[in-house]
Amino acid sequence: MRDRYDRKIDYVRISITDRCNLRCKYCMPEDGIKLLEHSDILSYEKILKICEAFTKIGITTFKITGGEPLVRKGVIEFIKALKALDNVKEVTLTTNGVLIDRMAESLIESKVDRINVSLDTLDRDRFFEITRRDSLDIVLKGIYRMVDLGFKNLKINSVPIKPLISKDLLGLANLAKDMPISVRFIELMPIGKGNEYIGSTREDILRILEANFGRALAYEGKLGNGPAKYIKFKDFIGYIGFIEALNDKFCDDCNRIRLSATGFLKLCLHYDYGFDIKDLVDDLGVDDLAIKLENIIYKKPKSHNFGERKNHADNKNMNQIGG
Ligand code: SAM
Ligand code: SF4
Repeated sequence: MRDRYDRKIDYVRISITDRCNLRCKYCMPEDGIKLLEHSDILSYEKILKICEAFTKIGITTFKITGGEPLVRKGVIEFIKALKALDNVKEVTLTTNGVLIDRMAESLIESKVDRINVSLDTLDRDRFFEITRRDSLDIVLKGIYRMVDLGFKNLKINSVPIKPLISKDLLGLANLAKDMPISVRFIELMPIGKGNEYIGSTREDILRILEANFGRALAYEGKLGNGPAKYIKFKDFIGYIGFIEALNDKFCDDCNRIRLSATGFLKLCLHYDYGFDIKDLVDDLGVDDLAIKLENIIYKKPKSHNFGERKNHADNKNMNQIGG
């Protein structure tokens, strides 16, 4: 489908839980959040019905997110069921990686198309400082395990905050040097706890990487469904990517919407408004639901206004939105 600004909308991020087994400081408060009641969270059955309706309006790429999606029971069966729907092109996952090692075989068996692992450092103390949990070893074990099992579509996502630590950036970039994975650096967005930190731009990061790996070569091809722009260093197996929602705004090409764990359809990351579709799922059949969704999504805002306007800015934390 196309929205009122003629953008093709074909991608939805679905948050299946607000719970998480880490506490990344730019994402969640240290002492956690008031958790949603179980009854407020959409059942898999309802999410699948919404997804079926999405496919009918041309939304065929699905990213499963959280909180931490792998902590929700039944996630593997859910991925399989989603993949089995007609016209689903891709089902991908974003995870902090803590449970990958334990779930590696079932993830492969689920036939999930891509996995993005969020990781900001390869240093154990720094990992603890950022995530408030001592889980680096198990995350790395999970990443290596997936690569060993031959999983080809794994990416690392990092959100470097200031002050930039060269060792963090170089350690992560080295993963792309040695393995067939891409490492992407994502600009911090001023959402929830993210407002308390300062993000980094491509320029900041590239300066450090080029000082170590030499001149970067631009890569014009497309890897995945997102707005990342890629470069490559000589002798690297994988690519390095940058996603800059503020410094290099990509709203004109935005192809995505978001569905929260409670059934709130969010049309733009920035704003608090959207549409609660939880009840519609019970009231409407799939075809009518699709028509309703198309009408709602058609009104997607033209662009975010981070840094400019505060009215209607969403004050949720990112774990409630899903990234
Ligand atoms: N727990 C999973 C994970 O960490 O990948 C999925 C949910 S998490 C909210 C999704 C992504 O959002 C992660 O890559 C995380 O680093 C990113 N994120 C969290 N807060 C952010 C912020 N303020 N700005 C930009 N990205 C953020
Ligand atoms: Fe959890 Fe992901 Fe947020 Fe970290 S970024 S606290 S892993 S939801």
